[in-house]
Amino acid sequence: MYPPATRAAALALLRRGSSLNATSVALGVSRATLRGWVRNAGAYSPRVAARATCPRDRELDAGAYAHLLGLYLGDGCLSEHRKSVFALRIACDETYATLLDECVESMRAVMPNSVSRNPAPGCVHVTSYSKHWPCLFPQHGPGRKHERPIVLEPWQRESSSAIPSASSAACSTPTAAG
Ligand SMILES: [Zn+2]
Repeated sequence: MYPPATRAAALALLRRGSSLNATSVALGVSRATLRGWVRNAGAYSPRVAARATCPRDRELDAGAYAHLLGLYLGDGCLSEHRKSVFALRIACDETYATLLDECVESMRAVMPNSVSRNPAPGCVHVTSYSKHWPCLFPQHGPGRKHERPIVLEPWQRESSSAIPSASSAACSTPTAAG
C-alpha cells in the first residue's frame, strides 16, 4: 500500500503527460500499480499518459482541430455515452472516401483514442469516445446545435483563423443531437 499522497502525485504526473515508465521510476511505484490507479481514476485505456491528459493542456494540432471543429459544427454531434464519457460522432458521406479518411485522421490527431467507422443509412459515422470532447467543443449543450446560438470561444477563433478553410461539409444528413 502506498500513501494517498504518492497516488495523487503519480496521477498528477501522468495527467501532465509523464509516461508510465518515467512516473514509475520517479516515484518508485510499479507500472502495474500505476495502471490500476489510472483505471480507478477514470481513464480507460492502455495509452495512459495521452488519454489521462486533457488535450487543452497539450499543444493542439491546430490544423486538425480547425478541420474537426468545422466538421463538428456542420455534421457532428456530441453526446454523453456513459458517465462523463462523450461520443463525438461526425456523419460523413460514404461516397467521399478521402474526406472520410481526413475526418478519421483529424479526430485521431486531436484525441489519440481509437476512432471507429460505423455505417449508417447514406452515411458513415466516424466516432471517438473521450471525457475531454466537451473541453474541446464547449458549444456542446442541451438541444440541437442549429437551434442554439453557436459562439466560438476566443481560443477556438485563434486556432481556426490560422487555417484558411476550416470547414468542410462532408455530409448533409442531419444528426440527432448537438
Ligand atoms: Zn479536458
